[in-house]
Amino acid sequence: MARKLKNYFNGEWVEASTDKYTPVVNPATCELMAETPDSAASDVDDVVRAAAEAYLEWRQTPILSRTRYMYAFKNLLEERFNDLAEMVVKENGKTIDEARGEVRRGIESVEFAFSVPALMTGFKVEDISSGIDETAERQPLGVFAAITPFNFPMMVPLWFLPVAIACGNTFVLKPSPQTPLSAELLFEILDEVGLPEGVVNMVHGGADSAHALMAHPDVRGISFVGSTHVGKIIYETSAKYGKRVQVQGGAKNYIAVMPDADLEKAVANIMGSVYGCAGQRCLAGSVIVAVGDVYEPLKKTLMDRASRMRVGYGLNESSQMGTVISAQSRERIKGMIEKGVQEGAKLILDGRGIKVEGFEDGNFIGPTIFDGVQPNMTLAREEIFGPVMSIMHVPDFDTAVKTINASRYGNAASIFTTNGGYARDFKYRVNAGNIGVNIGVAAPTASFPFGGQKDSFMGDTHGQGPDSIHFYTDHKVVIERWL
Ligand code: NAD
Repeated sequence: MARKLKNYFNGEWVEASTDKYTPVVNPATCELMAETPDSAASDVDDVVRAAAEAYLEWRQTPILSRTRYMYAFKNLLEERFNDLAEMVVKENGKTIDEARGEVRRGIESVEFAFSVPALMTGFKVEDISSGIDETAERQPLGVFAAITPFNFPMMVPLWFLPVAIACGNTFVLKPSPQTPLSAELLFEILDEVGLPEGVVNMVHGGADSAHALMAHPDVRGISFVGSTHVGKIIYETSAKYGKRVQVQGGAKNYIAVMPDADLEKAVANIMGSVYGCAGQRCLAGSVIVAVGDVYEPLKKTLMDRASRMRVGYGLNESSQMGTVISAQSRERIKGMIEKGVQEGAKLILDGRGIKVEGFEDGNFIGPTIFDGVQPNMTLAREEIFGPVMSIMHVPDFDTAVKTINASRYGNAASIFTTNGGYARDFKYRVNAGNIGVNIGVAAPTASFPFGGQKDSFMGDTHGQGPDSIHFYTDHKVVIERWL
């Protein structure tokens, strides 16, 4: 029998009161690793209450002391670096190198929280009227929750938790039920940090638990990362309950390659962008827009590189690409490939039949390439979230920009060029929140906000960077006259 996971609140691990569980399966070996409880509304209530009760005392804890816990947290994360990376591979299926990158990025978010005392500042103007001073102070708000996806099970929770609590809030995480084990390990480490009880808490579950969090009167704000479809539900529901909300949604990222680009470097970047994490990144390149004469040599080089990729188990150091998350996801992606064929795109590399020795039942899909993709095709419009590249050929830069801007998503877009004019025009005109110039994955570092526009983001304050301080605090205005 698989281990049943527990919720964490008030510094204790507590069984959920449910008989509904989601299996957590290693997507390469198909081993049943654990079962995630679908926590009941009463469980969510217990967890949020613990956070609410801890809030007042935590808020009064000096900001430098609050931040000091983050130094301890970082040190323990460094000590457990390899365990964390291995856990990410086992439950998510990406390669060990990709998992190390994820853990490093997660730790960088903890490091960013060290600067909260310098960033959580207000402002003041003296003599706003005779003898009257006016101050805007930044204050924490109470309990914040984050609802996170499967694809970065360790990093995404850390986009939110460290800054939220360093600002003086208390926190509840609801991780993806498909990948709860990295979050469990994070909380085991947080338990060692010795934070006061109730400051950080975790409740397992799926849609119902997420709704119980949004409806809970003690939750002040929600951070969500996941698909656009669910993101819209989160945005509407959170607004209905009067919550502060930030929604980082799905994506369809375009990469334009100009005829003057350095082809070798562009292709190396595109391979990492499209096939990294088996295409399961919100910043994954998906549609390659070949401009003018670069089309034939670009297509040839991409084909050559993609067909030589080593697909295998993530814990095997030589694997260059791992699995997708589940059998269901694999079948969904295969369905989208079939649809691409039916809609008239040319399948020039088909990864559907791949077999990995020793992992015959694993959820592998090999690198796949479509050529002749048109803007109206599903391949160009919908997020695939798998290792599928679509190549489009356009005559010029203007058509490339128009094609990119026709997408309903606006998470990321990149251009490969040696021409500064094109680069400048691209970043100026393209409606996407993260722009890469000769960079395939334009992933904002922890001290910058994680961009996103159109259907890729709902709200006005992004995760990470100064935006996160803004999200986790409110301005209180004080007007004073002392006689
Ligand atoms: P998902 O939307 O299925 O799930 C995300 C979270 O929402 C999970 O915790 C899940 O339990 C919960 N959830 C699912 N259905 C719900 C419902 N009906 N009501 C309330 N909560 C619900 O996403 P996923 O498949 O785990 O992750 C992949 C998606 O995340 C992709 O679309 C990807 O682009 C996106 N993503 C975006 C970013 C970003 O920064 N924009 C980063 C990573 C992933």
